[in-house]
Amino acid sequence: MLRISLKLLAFTLTTSVTRRLPRQDCGSNTGALMKVFNLLTCLVAGTCLLPFAANADPVALTHARLIDGTGKAATSDTTLVIDHGQIVSIGAKPPALGVKTIDLAGKTVMPALVSDHSHVGLVDGMTTASRNYTRATILAALDQYRRYGVLTVTALGLNKSPLFDQLRREQHQGLNPGADLYGVDQGIGAPGGMPPEAMIDKMGHDQISRPRTPIEARRAVDRMADEGTDFVKIWLDDLHTTNPANPPLPLLGASVWQAAIAEAHKRHLRVAVHIHDLDLAHQALAHGADILAHGVRDKPVDDALIAQLKTSGAWYIPTLSLDESTYYFAEHPETLDQTTASGAMPSGLKELIAQEAWRKATLAKPTTEAARAALAMNQRNVLALYRGGVKIGFGTDSGATPLRLPGFAEHRELILLVQAGLTPLQAINLATQKAASLLGLDDRGVLAVGKRADFLIIDGAPDRTISDIDLISQVWQRGTPVSDGLVAKGKTL
Ligand SMILES: [Zn+2]
Repeated sequence: MLRISLKLLAFTLTTSVTRRLPRQDCGSNTGALMKVFNLLTCLVAGTCLLPFAANADPVALTHARLIDGTGKAATSDTTLVIDHGQIVSIGAKPPALGVKTIDLAGKTVMPALVSDHSHVGLVDGMTTASRNYTRATILAALDQYRRYGVLTVTALGLNKSPLFDQLRREQHQGLNPGADLYGVDQGIGAPGGMPPEAMIDKMGHDQISRPRTPIEARRAVDRMADEGTDFVKIWLDDLHTTNPANPPLPLLGASVWQAAIAEAHKRHLRVAVHIHDLDLAHQALAHGADILAHGVRDKPVDDALIAQLKTSGAWYIPTLSLDESTYYFAEHPETLDQTTASGAMPSGLKELIAQEAWRKATLAKPTTEAARAALAMNQRNVLALYRGGVKIGFGTDSGATPLRLPGFAEHRELILLVQAGLTPLQAINLATQKAASLLGLDDRGVLAVGKRADFLIIDGAPDRTISDIDLISQVWQRGTPVSDGLVAKGKTL
């Protein structure tokens, strides 16, 4: 019964979104009524798996500039045909007679963004608390990601079972509005160390394991594996470079985290390791880490790290916008007047940004200086690793604090990658094809025949000017327009 009412709620929400979208998706009134009838029938019978793949007839998008996500240059005047949630043809030819068409002259189509490192259910407004870990808070965040064009989100640890596991299944099936969801159940932190006890005190101790022995570490990994986690996460950071005024926090014992990696591999799970410093990145990779979940920020990366990453095939997620988020809004109060930024802000954050005293105090903090240095080092390192041929993913740590705004953080990340020296097309390739590849998903991340029709329609050319990513005018998920994006909400930029 609960499942059916959730589906009905999802259906109601979808139709209310669809109503605001252009007419071309609705077909004739009779056709639309039949679709509603069919959908209601299967909802009541509990047989619909994909209530969001509602376009039963093929749709052709014509005259589009197309960025396919592979890093190739955009093609102009392209026709994209979508049927049953998938792309069925791409090319220069006009669609067959009788196929419903949508003219996208002057607009760019690109794959939806994929985040390899975010969090859900930790923050609500300006609070971080255990009580935030609810279905409603998580679905609201996934809906915000979707508005910003992020249709696949990886919540990399600090999750609560069984709600997280249930929501992942539901999002995979498209039962609720919002981004698809992957991630790590709890993760393995250090007793007395990272993630900081003060943060976990607020969040809840059931959202992390802190093993003291290799046996406890293996047990924690087995628990996550039994719950069906997508990865295992381990924190290896003493926080000293982030906060130089404080003494280093205790690290997990080497035998403990190494046992966790060995056990994860025994259970056929890959391990994402939170690192900050070069030395710990070397150690993690030497003992089998599959993903570095953050960029190296204390020193320039060396040839040995590049060799380790390339030999092992491990991924590197820089999360550039993480450090910037700590001071960005204090430095940019004009974001209050920019729809793209303010549309992602809770009201409490808007109040803070409006206060000159808060902005001054934030910019004067010693940690702000450290964050600027960390961002500069992170940008220098991602460029060196990219040029060195390392596999780079895309993530931001959005959702982990009230300043890391779901969706907006991913747009900043693209801009910061370009500032680091990547071309806009290279940055887009990381945030689409590469990010999906890190997750092992080959059904999305590129626009090609047979792939999911998860894409963004943009009133601009982000392959020329990366900040045009803010000009999303529509988001399509599984072949259906699900959000009118950012520009339709009013004047932006
Ligand atoms: Zn994180």
